[in-house]
Amino acid sequence: MRYISTRGQAPALSFEEAMLSGLARDGGLYVPESWPQMCADEIAALAGLSYEDAAFRVMRPFIGDAFTDAGFRDIIARAYAGFGHAARCPVKQLDSNHFLLELFHGPTLAFKDVAMQLIGQMFELSLKRSGKRVTIVGATSGDTGSAAIEAFAGLDAVDVFILYPHGRVSEVQRRQMTTPPQENVHAIAVDGDFDDCQARLKDMFNDHAFRDEVALAGVNSINWARVLAQVVYFFTSAVALGAPHRKVSFTVPTGNFGDIFAGYVAKRMGLPVERLVIATNQNDILHRTLATGAHRKQGVTPSISPSMDIQVSSNFERLLFDIYDREGAAVEQLMTALRDDGGFALDQGARDRLGREFDSGRASEAETSAAIRRTLARSAELICPHTACGVKVAEEQPASAVPMITLATAHPAKFPDAVEAATGIRPGLPERMADLFQRPERIERLPNDLAALKSFVANQRA
Ligand SMILES: *Cc1c(COP(=O)(O)O)cnc(C)c1O
Repeated sequence: MRYISTRGQAPALSFEEAMLSGLARDGGLYVPESWPQMCADEIAALAGLSYEDAAFRVMRPFIGDAFTDAGFRDIIARAYAGFGHAARCPVKQLDSNHFLLELFHGPTLAFKDVAMQLIGQMFELSLKRSGKRVTIVGATSGDTGSAAIEAFAGLDAVDVFILYPHGRVSEVQRRQMTTPPQENVHAIAVDGDFDDCQARLKDMFNDHAFRDEVALAGVNSINWARVLAQVVYFFTSAVALGAPHRKVSFTVPTGNFGDIFAGYVAKRMGLPVERLVIATNQNDILHRTLATGAHRKQGVTPSISPSMDIQVSSNFERLLFDIYDREGAAVEQLMTALRDDGGFALDQGARDRLGREFDSGRASEAETSAAIRRTLARSAELICPHTACGVKVAEEQPASAVPMITLATAHPAKFPDAVEAATGIRPGLPERMADLFQRPERIERLPNDLAALKSFVANQRA
């Protein structure tokens, strides 16, 4: 399996090369050159398997000869051993035909762990083999950073620098990034919003001299290996509810379009998915894109679901590549317009293709709180505000016999203020991180300035 860039100007890479480099050198994102297929019998055979065994079968066709079968099984086993639930990503019933897919049983209580724990193990094995060392720089709206720091802390061949927007992450998120004592991990508070952090990260990758000097590697959701890890739970949850004999739909709380793109990949591989529903908070560029055909940035307004406070949804580029018939030049043009003019309009063909696969909705702040309250009252479940955006949007979809699975992307204790404000109940941290608020923090605050960030990274790595 080879990986090609969405902008068509970078060389095709193997899985391992695409994983280690993150962003392509032409500014594009790597995607597989074709979608591997799973037939109905292969999907049916996932029923009853462990999460790890299902993960092996779903991901195996994508990795080529990057790892031996035994090596890959070992990576998967290590990745999920630290999860606090035997099913890893369990499905829970909310209503007669509405289900939650719980993705928050990993070490930092958000779905980012599902992918990050896996790629931590992949990086370690791959770098050990080659004797190389890399510098990982990531931008986070909160959850990616904590998941990355947790997954890479203490590994030998990796330095990690995480840029997060100062004052715009929850205290639990910040502490999960600033309290790990290992010297190879660094959390940087940037004076800016998440889109600034992500833009500086892209600048670093596009500075080829710097990129080579520090052997830059990326673990943001632009990294293909992360999207791939997330494809697995679309299969396991659908099979738990009767796929491939029965179709399912998914509603996905969306920011960077990584998680829902993984659902699209599962569908392309043959999983019978009826609808993929994009749920945004008040930062609703993706919902507006579906509703109007125009993809246009507005300012980011901080919300109670901060991990979705995003206006530049990086992984949307991967979808554009498909709906523009995999024409790199067309994607390049759209992305240039997004950067220079703040947006672009989809042509009619692209708009039709988008509408065939996806629906969308948004949740205001009040609607998010109301969904947290309602879900507790109706189903005795305390949900996080991101999940609540999903639940609200799922509930407004037209009635259907097809089961709806809403992705529960974080544990409520990761966002205790919003949950308490909505319900009066303050969710407690699980036992294993009960002392989080007593651990000492290490914080580096830097301006939203490329030169300052580059020199910090260059000087602080081992
Ligand atoms: C990252 C995140 C999201 C958004 O996921 P994307 O892949 O960026 O669309 C939603 N909820 C939580 C809790 C997150 O951490």
